[in-house]
Amino acid sequence: MSETPTRIALITGASRGIGEASARLMAANGRHVVLAARGVEALEAIANDIETAGGKASVYKCDITDHQGLADLVEKVADDHGRLDILVNNAGITRDNLLLRMTDEEFDEGISCNLRAAFVTCRAAIRQMMRGKFGRIVNVSSVSGVIGNPGQANYAAAKSGLIGFTKTIAKEMASKKITANVVAPGFVETAMTNDLPQRVKDFATQVTPVGRFGKPEELAAAIDFLTSDAAAYITGQVLCVDGGMSM
Ligand code: NAP
Repeated sequence: MSETPTRIALITGASRGIGEASARLMAANGRHVVLAARGVEALEAIANDIETAGGKASVYKCDITDHQGLADLVEKVADDHGRLDILVNNAGITRDNLLLRMTDEEFDEGISCNLRAAFVTCRAAIRQMMRGKFGRIVNVSSVSGVIGNPGQANYAAAKSGLIGFTKTIAKEMASKKITANVVAPGFVETAMTNDLPQRVKDFATQVTPVGRFGKPEELAAAIDFLTSDAAAYITGQVLCVDGGMSM
């Protein structure tokens, strides 16, 4: 399914996990994917794969701790490609600690990388999308932001904040043909969950009605759809792709 004109889609955190799977699927579905992360080598390898398969991909370095750099990145992508249609704020970090032990710095880092970074990219991207009279934004939250999670006060606050933030964008931008939605993953098999202690993995599986971790491709399917032309009537929604964990 390819869209006209070819949609330019910026995906942060595209070097592995959910971002990589989303980029591959979105490229297969006709978007020109702009892959961003710190690990340029990994991005180049993914872009090569996509192009070998007949898709279109470009690579840009980005760091979600550098907010001016993020705003500049959005402008550069739009300058280089003549437009920006789709933004997937997928890059995220965890800095887990129990609340009573959590430092101010850990709390601030969680908010800065997971929430403020998305504010900066959305604001810059919306300026470009308004020019094109089209936009799709997906902000990747977490089941932690929907139902909370011990040890993640900073992360849950940021991921929950993303929900109110995204709903506000949806309301402000609906008349401009720009949609904004949240995808909230449960536990997914990626580098982020690889190193969790086995007892935590067992507990996560136990509290997930579907009885297993999700696969990055299962998140990509939701992100791909919400960024498609076909999803024009869906905005301000939170799609929990979590095996039923949050219901
Ligand atoms: P992942 O496999 O650890 O991938 C994280 C991606 O973000 C990588 O591409 C990484 O690339 C990039 N990234 C990390 N720090 C960055 C930084 N400072 N600047 C720019 N990019 C950075 O994680 P994932 O599981 O796919 O997570 C993707 C999103 O889903 C995140 O927002 C996460 O919070 C959310 N999520 C994941 C789960 C889960 O169970 N996996 C559950 C709920 C929500 P570089 O290292 O190359 O920069």
